[in-house]
Amino acid sequence: MTNSLDPTARQDELHPDLLARLQNMMMYLQLPEGGVRTAFPDEISCRDRFIAIRWPDGVCCPACGDHSVNMLPKRDLFQCRQCRKQFSPTSGTQLHRTRLSVQMWLFATEAVIQWNAQRYMYGEITIDALGTRLGVHTEAALRVRRIVSHDISVNGSGLLRHAVCTRDPDVPRAIQPWTSQHFQWAKAKVSPGVGPALI
Ligand SMILES: [Zn+2]
Repeated sequence: MTNSLDPTARQDELHPDLLARLQNMMMYLQLPEGGVRTAFPDEISCRDRFIAIRWPDGVCCPACGDHSVNMLPKRDLFQCRQCRKQFSPTSGTQLHRTRLSVQMWLFATEAVIQWNAQRYMYGEITIDALGTRLGVHTEAALRVRRIVSHDISVNGSGLLRHAVCTRDPDVPRAIQPWTSQHFQWAKAKVSPGVGPALI
């Protein structure tokens, strides 16, 4: 194995396919210990997590940008004290008006990340696997998969990704990020799943 402390070590660039796979594996390694269900056991804790990721500097009115906002106890609706606009944690995002709870979105994101890291060889997560996991119909599962896959992609907003990726993956310092050495390290940590079934 190449020693990255050696100045002559080759700083090899990963093939784009391997880089994408490494990104998936790194997301997987950042999922909470015991899963999303353990880290965020109910809808309110999921909403709180989503709100903290969406508005790291405090909830802010999407209409006027003011920070003086009233929050209802269930954290499902806010009202701006300035312009009186009412909005939800997901207003203005792709998750809005999907009738899926924030908790379901976090479960879906976890499922897609797990699949991408462990079952990449079977292609995208199947609609059946995702639908069964979430208890939703095919059409809804299709839509959820599209939204989640885009969110966690390089061009996505990363809102869902950051909401579920809570853990420091503890990459050893000696490992150069995004090299084949990093890839091998991550691969050893992620054991591929057997068969296309989910978890
Ligand atoms: Zn406002």
